[in-house]
Amino acid sequence: MTVKRVIASEHQRRDLEDSFAKDSPMAIVNKYPVDVEVPERLVHFWRDVVSRIDAKDPSTIYESDDLLQCEFVYGGLADPDNRYFGFTYFPFDEDPDTEWEFFLSESELRRIASGLQQSIQAFRCQDPRCLLMHSAPDGYCPNCDNVLDYVDEFGDMRKAYPALDDVTINVMVAMRRIVHGLLQSTTENHEWPRHAIYSSNDEPILSWRVGLLPYIDQVDLFRRVAVDEPWDSPSNRRLWNEMPSVFRTRSDLALPDTHVTAVIDDNTMWPLRGGRHWRDVRKGTSYTAAVLELTGWATNWMRPDDVTLPDVLRASREESRGASGDNIIVAGMVDGNATPFSGEAIIEGLLIG
Ligand SMILES: [Zn+2]
Repeated sequence: MTVKRVIASEHQRRDLEDSFAKDSPMAIVNKYPVDVEVPERLVHFWRDVVSRIDAKDPSTIYESDDLLQCEFVYGGLADPDNRYFGFTYFPFDEDPDTEWEFFLSESELRRIASGLQQSIQAFRCQDPRCLLMHSAPDGYCPNCDNVLDYVDEFGDMRKAYPALDDVTINVMVAMRRIVHGLLQSTTENHEWPRHAIYSSNDEPILSWRVGLLPYIDQVDLFRRVAVDEPWDSPSNRRLWNEMPSVFRTRSDLALPDTHVTAVIDDNTMWPLRGGRHWRDVRKGTSYTAAVLELTGWATNWMRPDDVTLPDVLRASREESRGASGDNIIVAGMVDGNATPFSGEAIIEGLLIG
């Protein structure tokens, strides 16, 4: 296990593919912060590390997760650019499975070594029986986190956005699932999904929302779609009322309508013609919006029908929702998260560069 954590380059494109190859972050339950008193033997160990740093010992210069070690701790320089060190400590000699992970700057190590600092912030699991300590609130715990389950997405989102009302939180969860589907599709097809499925005559006949079905656990429904027929053919009409719940963001929305839309434009993720690749996302995936919920607009979920930038601009001036009275539009971001935008800021978010 390693405690390496990316600090400076979170928004870099390559991280997207990495993070997507890994398990869903939704499976991890947030840990709560605690102050851990640094055990005496660890103080001694870190004092030795600091003297090695001062001596420019290679073990403190090269990136590693185990060049610095003794019988109860191992670690090394995790982030050479920012001089952060990661350590895995075994607090109980009789229990080799209990690990405490620490992620410390060089200056923090120096403060501990010199006695100026006696404790470190770490993160503990919600379950009091779990004795592991993590270096980050979203650290993965082999005891408590099940990477195969989607646990409490609503609760996680509520913690991240305490000021938003429950309806908006639900929209955020739906948006995140939709974007994760889009990302999975991109990984498999080496291209961001196109805004429509086209006929052999080059006519748009079905929405990207239909193309997304296999990637949002709706493989059976997708198999029943006549993908060479228009969205309103007799055969496809029979599926109108089977709209997946992620597209039904409001309980008062009548089937088969959805408020979930792509934004068609040469400068968004959804050009009218052609596809998108990661190199097109010049602004970074965390800052680029992929899909929106626009409550002032609705369409049949199977229909290749989406909004344009002027539609969004108009909506951003009209929408009003939430306890704060802010105009909020929820977007699923290209990095797999969901973000609430206030007013016209959404326009900037939609542009790829
Ligand atoms: Zn745990």
